[in-house]
Amino acid sequence: MATLIYPDVKNFINGTFDGNGQHVLDVMSPLTGEVISNVPLSGASALQTAVEAAKSAFPDWSGLTLKERVQFFFRYRSLLEKHMEELTKLVHVENGKTMEEARAEVMKSIELCEFAVSMPQIVTNEIQEVSRGVECRIERKPVGIVACITPFNFPNMVPHWTVPNALVLGNCVILKPSELVPLSAMRMAELLKEAGIPDGVFNVVNGGKEIVEAICDHPEIKATSFVGSTRVAKIVYRRASSNLQRCVALGGAKNHLLVLPDAHVEMTANNVVASMAGCAGQRCMAASVMVGVDKVQHIIDKMIEEAAKIIPGKNLGSVISKEAKERIEKYITEAEAQGAKILVDGRNTTVSGKEDGYYVGPTIIDFVKPDMAVAREEIFGPVISIIRARDLDEAIDIENGSNYGNAAAVFTQSGGLAKRVMEKASAGMIGVNIGVPVPREPFSFGGWNESKFGVGDITGRSSIEFWTQNKKTTTKWNPEDKRDWMS
Ligand code: NAD
Repeated sequence: MATLIYPDVKNFINGTFDGNGQHVLDVMSPLTGEVISNVPLSGASALQTAVEAAKSAFPDWSGLTLKERVQFFFRYRSLLEKHMEELTKLVHVENGKTMEEARAEVMKSIELCEFAVSMPQIVTNEIQEVSRGVECRIERKPVGIVACITPFNFPNMVPHWTVPNALVLGNCVILKPSELVPLSAMRMAELLKEAGIPDGVFNVVNGGKEIVEAICDHPEIKATSFVGSTRVAKIVYRRASSNLQRCVALGGAKNHLLVLPDAHVEMTANNVVASMAGCAGQRCMAASVMVGVDKVQHIIDKMIEEAAKIIPGKNLGSVISKEAKERIEKYITEAEAQGAKILVDGRNTTVSGKEDGYYVGPTIIDFVKPDMAVAREEIFGPVISIIRARDLDEAIDIENGSNYGNAAAVFTQSGGLAKRVMEKASAGMIGVNIGVPVPREPFSFGGWNESKFGVGDITGRSSIEFWTQNKKTTTKWNPEDKRDWMS
């Protein structure tokens, strides 16, 4: 029997860890293929306990001022810093990304807390005298009990996209982390408790499909955020909104990088390969298709050199599972069979000493046609498909043809051509000479098309709308004034 190197994962409800699942699932480290823990697969009854805890905590928590609530996150932010190395290791072990990538992820969580603690400077109410002696004011009030459902690829950061903002704005939160990477969420619960967050304000329920469906169906959950694949985003968005919850559901991606012949060679090759291979390609912002416009062979040659510097197990982590490795390799094999040319081949990669880990090397596929599966579907591995285009218009048409629309980028030294892509690309986040164009707070993160369902974005200023509702109050304190249509 394999050795469990982490304690069993528990649900965190009303400030206490408890099993609350009838069945458990092994948690594996994709670095080695070893079982490192297990996670309960909870259902509606665990959710009900969490909702009741959140309901009891809500009046006191929402009754605090915004300035009072952010104090918890000043303390929590310090705890993230204090435990940086331990949290980094946890992400590395449960997700498989490199220590460097995991550290960057935890640092991003710290930045997200910095945005949350700045809310009192941003969320100011509005007041205006609309008639003599009559004032209208608008205050932002919490929505109530809310849920956040998260994917496997950023076990620490994606929960921090939503949880700190939702909490400081006065909501009580139920987090449902990916069952593939539940350890970081458990640690998050411990540290939030240590920061003084009152019992019931933040809860974690573990599991898969069953608990997600229970969240969407629960009449007392008022808002649900989801981050994951498009297939599940559609299910969650439809189900939660049909049960009258507000919902924002971020889905998958197929990000196109348009490379023009005048692009800076070293920087472009370096950025495109880093975007494709970073976090083993398991980022919703990863480059997946490069559209090479006209004569870009010199840049592709340089990309091959860059890819050779990426060593699995050293500066390239594992993919999440055996199934993911098999799926990614199948895409490469199919593209080859359909006539594409494999310039760099990451299939059949193993890492010495970690032979049971799930590694795929960096892969560059050239002469891909827009209708091939590698050009259309999300692969979620360190693979880039190169489609050759005659001119920028054709390249833009190829980008516009994708069902997704998370990110798109252009590499060029021409401001005019870059501007055309900025205007015409059908994606929510655009990069100019940037391979991973993530907007940093206070700007908001969110895609277009099938990369996001619902109104608004998930982070930054846009999230304030999602996690609050406006209360509009009209007052008159001049009884001597005559009656008018507002009386
Ligand atoms: P996933 O959709 O498989 O899982 C996401 C969540 O949904 C998990 O918590 C999981 O337990 C739950 N779930 C899975 N199947 C379900 C079902 N049938 N019914 C109800 N719930 C279900 O996604 P994943 O594999 O964990 O994450 C990778 C995906 O997430 C990729 O598609 C990636 O592009 C996407 N992603 C998108 C963004 C973004 O900002 N758009 C960010 C990160 C990840």
